[in-house]
Amino acid sequence: MKTSAGGREGGRAEGVPFELALSPSRPLALYLRSSSNAGPMSINRRDFIATTAAGVAIPALGSAETIVSHIEQRSLGPKAPRFAPPPVVISSENGNISKNAEGKTGVQVAYEMISRGGDTLDAIVNGVSVVERDPNDQSVGLGGLPNEEGVVQLDASCMHGPTKRAGSVGCLEGIATPAAVAKAVMDYTDHIMLVGEGAKKFALRMGFKEENLLTEQTRKDYLRWKATLNAGDAWLNPPPATRPPGDDDAPAHRGRHVWHDEKGIPYSYGTINMNAVNANGDISSCTTTSGLSWKIPGRVGDSPIIGAGQYCDNEVGAAGSTGRGEANIKVCGAFLVVEFMRQGMSPEAACMKVMERVIAMTESRLMVNGKPTFQLQFYAVNKKGEYAAACCYEGAQYAVCDAKGPRFEKFAYMYKASEQPKGPLSGVMVKPPA
Ligand code: ASP
Repeated sequence: MKTSAGGREGGRAEGVPFELALSPSRPLALYLRSSSNAGPMSINRRDFIATTAAGVAIPALGSAETIVSHIEQRSLGPKAPRFAPPPVVISSENGNISKNAEGKTGVQVAYEMISRGGDTLDAIVNGVSVVERDPNDQSVGLGGLPNEEGVVQLDASCMHGPTKRAGSVGCLEGIATPAAVAKAVMDYTDHIMLVGEGAKKFALRMGFKEENLLTEQTRKDYLRWKATLNAGDAWLNPPPATRPPGDDDAPAHRGRHVWHDEKGIPYSYGTINMNAVNANGDISSCTTTSGLSWKIPGRVGDSPIIGAGQYCDNEVGAAGSTGRGEANIKVCGAFLVVEFMRQGMSPEAACMKVMERVIAMTESRLMVNGKPTFQLQFYAVNKKGEYAAACCYEGAQYAVCDAKGPRFEKFAYMYKASEQPKGPLSGVMVKPPA
């Protein structure tokens, strides 16, 4: 099943309440849910203030919308661009693999929105929702690989450069589009991060729909993983894997950021990070994931950590990461990439410099012959619309969409594929070399 989020400016990510899909940075329009649930209505700011001042109660979402009004006022800063960068959207590879009902990939959806004047964060939250709604991407949203108890727990965060705001959710269950929930935290609350049960209650209150995120495929994958864990337990070993060797590289699976071991068990090394800069030089960033496959319940990776999974400073640029979150959190990777760009480094030099820092900060148990046993990727775009991505091991590609259309580009890398250690591997570690 694919999202129906189209390339419409102001388009709505599937499963995202109408009110939430609208940018609070779009001036002077507030959308209220009527008490009769008759649908959203639009009023201008003066009417809104007059209405509330007159003491008319705004049911259910009243306090949230008052906050949105306040946020909007703060966000109406000077908008004059100092230059016109070429608009661009970059993301992890899966941003140009999963497709919506119109056959458009995430980076295409986001690029079309910003090129029509849409807000950069609205655009990328819609863009990543294409991957979140794709049950075949086992590293994000619906169909993401579950934790060690078979429960899908999702993490996401976002930052809106022009208004200097951020939102995040961790360990969110039952909601397929955590990036939009993170944006709702940003748009409708004075908080930045909600986790677990509280995040879910918030999402339901905001109108997101609960659904079973465990697909038939991930349920079977979970049972296979569980049954092969311990030869002495009561679970009988499953029949041998039917996936042919090398199937991960078949066109249907390539770029899905999951690899299968010799027992046919999938391990995710996925996530989607997406960043955009528009012709005004306004920038936003967003990362969403189901995290490490088979993780300990409650484990939160880098994706929902502002400054690790993604970071955005409208004066400089945006950055994000996919891969082993534990390695990234320790160096505040996305923040550091942006800081290096602030010091004048190109996006590629900044990403590579942070990769060096990651390796310098890696525990010896995760190093073999001086090389890390995991993969990690950084993506960066600056205010001029220049972009790059860098990773640990050669061979990966990432997604770009600009005036030339959607495509893949190659990562800069620290080490050649042949230098990659052969193991031990677990969770989100690198796919072993053939
Ligand atoms: N960075 C994500 C996490 O650690 C996982 C990944 O990108 O593979 O949760």
